[in-house]
Amino acid sequence: MKRQPFLAGNWKMHLTRAEARRLAEQLKASLSEVSGRDVAVAPPFTALATVGEVLVGSPIALAAQNLHEEPKGAYTGEISGPMLVDLGCRYVIIGHSERRQYFSETDEVVNRKIQAALAVGLGPIVCVGETLSEREAGRTLTVVERQVRGALRGYDTGALEKVTLAYEPVWAIGTGRTATPEQAEEVQAEIRRILARIAEPRAAERIRILYGGSVKPDNIDALMAQPNIDGALVGGASLDAGSFARIVKFREL
Ligand code: PEP
Repeated sequence: MKRQPFLAGNWKMHLTRAEARRLAEQLKASLSEVSGRDVAVAPPFTALATVGEVLVGSPIALAAQNLHEEPKGAYTGEISGPMLVDLGCRYVIIGHSERRQYFSETDEVVNRKIQAALAVGLGPIVCVGETLSEREAGRTLTVVERQVRGALRGYDTGALEKVTLAYEPVWAIGTGRTATPEQAEEVQAEIRRILARIAEPRAAERIRILYGGSVKPDNIDALMAQPNIDGALVGGASLDAGSFARIVKFREL
């Protein structure tokens, strides 16, 4: 089954509004003709409005890096789903390993944030992945299965089809150490088998699974050649317009 590739850039806690505007303008110019794939960028909250204005009329969608579980309330410093929709966001990254590691996000929190996203029509990009010590202990598939099942517990097939998963081995994020295409494919094929057990098998075939972890222009083509790698979540390389544009325009091998 052919799934439309999805390439998303996570700008993390980088770029002032002026810097974000410049990057968005460069991307808009170089990706105006892109088709047959979905593209999104996730600037920091402070630059969402600015980048959203620049991207009007371009095929690049706006994404947020996080959201709060509640739609509004006394949660100082937090940002809700309705606020992101108001800024023009189409997607939101949920459960990034940096949020799990530094902000104590558990599978239960991730599960509730997916609900918050779906309630306002945002497409959740849900991150899972093992640490280096988990991989070395041979626990990769166990950890990833726990994260996928925990994140998606209680959702019916209709909801699951709106979710994008991102397999991001923690040891490959920001380290320059990419999983080999075969390592990523092994885990992503397993994620699809898990999805087929929790959703209708045909729906599991439609759900996109991205790979993330030191994706660069020189490894994207080989990664995308794998049958269960449907796109990429890109950190560092998405801050450089030329690099991200080349990743979006990956070549079919
Ligand atoms: C990420 O943060 O989602 C990521 C994959 O980062 P990098 O591409 O820099 O490894």
